Amino acid sequence: MQFTHEHEELRRTLKRFIDEEINPRVDEWEAAEMFPAHEVFGRLGALGLLGLTKPEAYGGVGLDYSYSVVMAETLGHVRCGGVPMAIGVQTDMATPALARFGSDALRRDFLAPAIAGDMVACIGVSEPGAGSDVAAIRTTARKDGGDYVISGSKMWITNSLQADWMCLLVNTSDGPAHRNKSLIVVPMKTPGISVGRKIRKIGMMASDTGLIHFDDVRVPQRYRIGEEGQGFTYQMLQFQEERLWAAANAIEALANCIAQTAEYARERQAFGQSILDNQVVHFRLAELKTEVEALRALTYLATEHYVAGRDVTEWASMAKLKAGRLLREVPDACLQFWGGMGYTWDNPASRLYRDGRLASIAGGADEVMLGIIAKQMGILPARR
Ligand SMILES: Cc1cc2nc3c(=O)[nH]c(=O)nc-3n(C[C@H](O)[C@H](O)[C@H](O)COP(=O)(O)OP(=O)(O)OC[C@H]3O[C@@H](n4cnc5c(N)ncnc54)[C@H](O)[C@@H]3O)c2cc1C
Repeated sequence: MQFTHEHEELRRTLKRFIDEEINPRVDEWEAAEMFPAHEVFGRLGALGLLGLTKPEAYGGVGLDYSYSVVMAETLGHVRCGGVPMAIGVQTDMATPALARFGSDALRRDFLAPAIAGDMVACIGVSEPGAGSDVAAIRTTARKDGGDYVISGSKMWITNSLQADWMCLLVNTSDGPAHRNKSLIVVPMKTPGISVGRKIRKIGMMASDTGLIHFDDVRVPQRYRIGEEGQGFTYQMLQFQEERLWAAANAIEALANCIAQTAEYARERQAFGQSILDNQVVHFRLAELKTEVEALRALTYLATEHYVAGRDVTEWASMAKLKAGRLLREVPDACLQFWGGMGYTWDNPASRLYRDGRLASIAGGADEVMLGIIAKQMGILPARR
């Protein structure tokens, strides 16, 4: 990927913001199991960082997707995974379909304030009974006059305790599972929406995750994104950006974990020498660095294809799979070299070990990625 002066400027601006306004408060937000999304998004919006690839007509910057990838990568400098994930939900998971397929009025009412940082968005796909198998979701929206009336539940929803609106995937008819769904923008203050519970997790502590119930929730039909029945297809397209974002976001977090581990191991002495001087340690870190650079190359290649307008279903899946694998392997190996310190809660390797574990599960589990790649290779057996 060719980086321009604008890419470098983006990196610098965001890195400065992270160093000055996010990292000093990360420990406080991790302990509170919540970060102030409106405050942080307001600042990011003012810096023009929430709509890099979104249309200028709605306050975006209209840049190509390589800028989103640079932003996701730079967010890897945040000293936890939860805050970057919440930002990624806003920029690359809950808003791509609205930006691409939403009506002008819908984009003015919901996309423009999300880009400005005045509204927090969330994405509602997963349910208590369906996660990997997106086609099997049960939440429905039936038509009544000019409205949809929504019933069901959405599970694991990032940002949902603070969100102003949800990009909701629902069944809008009884037809075939890939053609009966729609994406609808649902304001979270609408009567009938309730938070079942805030979910306690092993990582991503600063990010709020909720179980949300919809009990006869009424929204106008004009809140539907694009065509009725196209929701599954729109969501699969939206997943491409989510997966590229997830891969890019892993890179710097992994590289920093390796660098911090090397630094610690260099200082720490055992058996009369530094821990780092044991060949098993420095060779392992060298090997992991090589893996991270391979992930970077794969992610950049996938991004180049995406920017060129090609279908990146397979590339994005491979990049996300590799990121998920490395987010398990790298912090596990690094944690070991910190000894007892690695087993403490606020250690950087242990935080990445917990936060990074999510990458192999959310946004399509590793096995779902493997299924997609195998299908693209023409080697996935037909369903019986
Ligand atoms: C912290 C967190 C934040 C999240 N944020 C959001 C959000 O904002 N919005 C949202 O919609 N969802 C969100 N999710 C949900 C996430 O996308 C799902 O958890 C994920 O898609 C897996 O679905 P599931 O949990 O129902 O697992 P299941 O579908 O029950 O799958 C369980 C396991 O089975 C295995 N498996 C599944 N399919 C196959 C297969 N075909 N072959 C082999 N093995 C398979 C995998 O190992 C998988 O992990 C979040 C989840 C978490 C934990």
